[in-house]
Amino acid sequence: MSVADALARVLDDAAPLPAENAELTDAYARVLAADLAALRTQPPEDLSAMDGYAVRASSVQTVPVTLKLVGEVAAGHPFEGSVGDGEAARIFTGGVVPAGADTIVIQENTERDGDRVKVVTGSPPGRHIRRAGLDFKKDAVLLAKGHRLSDRDLMLAAAMNHPTVPVHRRPRVAVLGTGDELVPPGTTPGPGEIVYSNGFALMALARAEGAEVIDLGIVPDRVDATVAAIRRAREAQADVLLTSGGASVGDYDLVQKGLAAEGLELSFWRVALRPGRPMMHGKLGAMQVLGLPGNPVSAFVCAVLFLVPLIRRLAGREDVNPNIESAVLGIDLAANDERADYMRAKLAAGPNGTPVATPVPVQDSSMMAALAKSDCLLVREPFAPAVKAGAQCEIIRLTPAF
Ligand code: AMP
Ligand code: MG
Repeated sequence: MSVADALARVLDDAAPLPAENAELTDAYARVLAADLAALRTQPPEDLSAMDGYAVRASSVQTVPVTLKLVGEVAAGHPFEGSVGDGEAARIFTGGVVPAGADTIVIQENTERDGDRVKVVTGSPPGRHIRRAGLDFKKDAVLLAKGHRLSDRDLMLAAAMNHPTVPVHRRPRVAVLGTGDELVPPGTTPGPGEIVYSNGFALMALARAEGAEVIDLGIVPDRVDATVAAIRRAREAQADVLLTSGGASVGDYDLVQKGLAAEGLELSFWRVALRPGRPMMHGKLGAMQVLGLPGNPVSAFVCAVLFLVPLIRRLAGREDVNPNIESAVLGIDLAANDERADYMRAKLAAGPNGTPVATPVPVQDSSMMAALAKSDCLLVREPFAPAVKAGAQCEIIRLTPAF
């Protein structure tokens, strides 16, 4: 099965999760499930944009002129009186322009003497006044359903007076490692044991995509232990169960056996890609199951290709695929075989601004140090012909953005 067909199956019936009202502090990068209209007009009244004096423009048409100070306005403290001919009210930025005044004379153009203000430069009507509704008006839909909330959008939603926003629920991703040989980092591995590592990248990746993570830890290669972990995922109401390991031809049946015992509807279990052929997908009731290969690089690449789009779709996003960018090849490459290849590569600045992608020398799916220092995955389609250094190629950038 091709990567595209496999991904289509994963996304096939993955619908955006239901809406919930999220606090603004928990809404960043989430997708609006409904239009958001302003609950108020901003600014709500005419406000001064400067520190100075609120006056009638007609009073300062001929300068210099001395005006009588009749009141003071600070932000949050309006002046109840009004400003007449030959009068001025002291005003600070954000203060409500008092009745009668139609312009602001900035402080720099005045000389103050007790309750007298000498104005040396005039100010036309409307000057330095932010009119009510300058920014936005009540009932205007400023953020539309389907929009992904940026930092600035959260500022706007708050100004629109929404303490919470309707967004799609965060996908819950349960992450499980499988293998008799795995021990947690920081312990002393016994003979034949290795340190469990996949989960830490997978959990970080899922969280970076806005998911909530349920860490199921490691289970040994036993069906009963696998079943118990699957049940924990279901009890935690995971939307996605992400396993890694137990997926190579030899022991594939183990994870699948546990899942089958629990009622898995298998969708596929092999994909024509490298690294990561033993990639599995199915559904256990409403829970999506992605069975990643055990080799760390394979697990990560498959997560980028399948988990990331799935999380994005569940979170309500339309643009679910990792970004494919153009780069220039740093070395010659031989023709590709029948599997799509996602080579780990370094990026360097190119002569005309296009980055140059050079694959790391050894493309082994167990090599975490090479993966960690790679900047991108260099994508090669099945049966891509041999290409020379300098040819155009396609890449998927790794962190910070896909
Ligand atoms: P498996 O698919 O279980 O046969 O695993 C393939 C290879 O990946 C084996 O060398 C495993 O030891 C290794 N592996 C499996 N799971 C993990 C993991 N969570 N962290 C690190 N290595 C793993
Ligand atoms: Mg294993």
